[in-house]
Amino acid sequence: MTKRRSIVVANWKMFMGPSDGEHLAHNIVDICQSFSSVDVVICPPLVSLTKVGSVIEGTRIKLGAQNIFWEPDEGPFTGEVSAQMIAGWCEYVIVGHSERRQHFEETDDIVNKKVKAGLQHGLKVIICVGESLVENNAGDTKDIIEYQVRSAYQGVLPNDALQTVVAYEPIWAIGTGLASTPYAANRVCAKYVRGTLDRIFGYEVSQAIRIQYGGSINRNNISEFIVQVDIDGVLIGGSSLSADEFAAILHVIDR
Ligand code: PEP
Repeated sequence: MTKRRSIVVANWKMFMGPSDGEHLAHNIVDICQSFSSVDVVICPPLVSLTKVGSVIEGTRIKLGAQNIFWEPDEGPFTGEVSAQMIAGWCEYVIVGHSERRQHFEETDDIVNKKVKAGLQHGLKVIICVGESLVENNAGDTKDIIEYQVRSAYQGVLPNDALQTVVAYEPIWAIGTGLASTPYAANRVCAKYVRGTLDRIFGYEVSQAIRIQYGGSINRNNISEFIVQVDIDGVLIGGSSLSADEFAAILHVIDR
């Protein structure tokens, strides 16, 4: 099995409106042009997609959205944006981020509908899964992650599954400065995420799907995570809001 290509996703969350986003994208393009062995995806807020998209056009950096609605095409859903609409701009979309599960009551069923909506319109879907601190302390990580992975891929065909990436993001590590340990994160990615993918889709497909770790990644801890066999990249929040910090992380991965 050939080594999976690393993928780094910048999740700007609700930061970087159009002009700040454009500025940061310029800085990232300036610094990140030289990275060749890693896929880089920037996910700005919706209102900044066009500006950031035009800055990164013609570079190797790809554009992603942070969310889509579950109705794939169009309809009377005020304030929502569909996969069909996003597909005109973006190559990637993040689905099921824990902040959406937490603040917008996105259930596993909704996440599954969004995964299918994205795939239907040719988007590459980054599926976030992760356990809370309470679940982790109770020893429930295995059950939670396996359930979230199974639910997200319900009704997804193997060929479509190849267009997905899974981001394992323990909720307690997101934005807290308290990353998981590389060993524990790799164990979850290998056993509970890839193991479940293996049971659903078989060995070949499960080995081809890339699995990221996300949660308080920075330039100091990235090297320990990226060497782990089943961690194929990282999803980065806070550290992606500075071009220097982001580039420092990419530099370690690209070595
Ligand atoms: C995230 O937003 O998915 C994330 C991992 O954030 P941070 O890197 O800030 O922990």
